[in-house]
Amino acid sequence: MRHLNRIHIGIAAAVVAYLVAPLVSAGGVPGGPQISPADALQKLQVGNARYVCGKSDHPNQDAARRQEAFTGGQHPFAAVLTCSDSRVPVELIFDQGIGDVFAIRVAGNITDKHQTGSIEYAVEHLGVPLVVVMGHRACGAVAATCSKADVHGNVASIVRSIGPAVERVQKRQPDLKGDALVAEAIKENVFETIATLLSTSQPLNEMVKAGKIKVVGAVYDIEQATVSWLGVHPQESTILAAGVKSIGDHSGATDSNSGAKEQAQTGAVPGDGGAAAAGGSNPASAHGEAAKGHNQTGSESPTKVAGETATRDKKTPPPPPPSAKPKTAPQPAKPSGGHP
Ligand SMILES: [Zn+2]
Repeated sequence: MRHLNRIHIGIAAAVVAYLVAPLVSAGGVPGGPQISPADALQKLQVGNARYVCGKSDHPNQDAARRQEAFTGGQHPFAAVLTCSDSRVPVELIFDQGIGDVFAIRVAGNITDKHQTGSIEYAVEHLGVPLVVVMGHRACGAVAATCSKADVHGNVASIVRSIGPAVERVQKRQPDLKGDALVAEAIKENVFETIATLLSTSQPLNEMVKAGKIKVVGAVYDIEQATVSWLGVHPQESTILAAGVKSIGDHSGATDSNSGAKEQAQTGAVPGDGGAAAAGGSNPASAHGEAAKGHNQTGSESPTKVAGETATRDKKTPPPPPPSAKPKTAPQPAKPSGGHP
């Protein structure tokens, strides 16, 4: 009889586990989205395909959804860190609705404590399984950095944060100029931000290591509406293994994590071979399209940059972190120990 009771208890426990399991997201957050990183990526890709074809479903945008999200809370399936550029409307691009995408937008899709903290919240507390860092064609912030535009006030902080990415491209491909340089720098800047996230955030570093989340790059074509998927950072394993450094104080995060990230990015050719790991689309075609796009129409002028970044809310001038190497975007690269 006691034996039968134990069997019944075992069956009951299994049933409870079965019933509860669907309520726990891939990231282990109860009530989180029931979707894997790969499926979340596919959902964005399919949504973008609808948008590109002019056949958007406009899902989850009515009053019922609004009420459901209010009473039931938010359960976004992806976090997207992208540029503030008004031509990059995240929900439209991916044909999503209310409560679907946790969006973080800042000129140049860079990251510091505020942006990184927002993404940590998304993955840790909302169970978001996929983080996308998305640059865009004709990004004025990147173009301003490439052209060493004379920017003022807190806009200079944004340009400084993009500087290392531009320097790496210039060192790797010294013949690149104009639109071609901007196009490569846009992709490099996406990977710069990914590296910053993984090398300054313990939760993100650990969750990627554990396979609970994926962090992938992308570039949006503001003319064609297509998203080119760049995959995970090509040096992801090296960056993860190097561990986490503290992020700088409200300045460009890249200022303060020069060690592990720079080591990982030395000689890297971002994007190559990464898309497969992310379950993304063809990396070769993605890169080709991105570069082609930039070459076709070029970037906006530095004067437009000021307009793009005018809404940024950088309250204080960025003090250089103790261990930081000065950002060198508008200036020549440091002779040694600086960015590769
Ligand atoms: Zn931009």
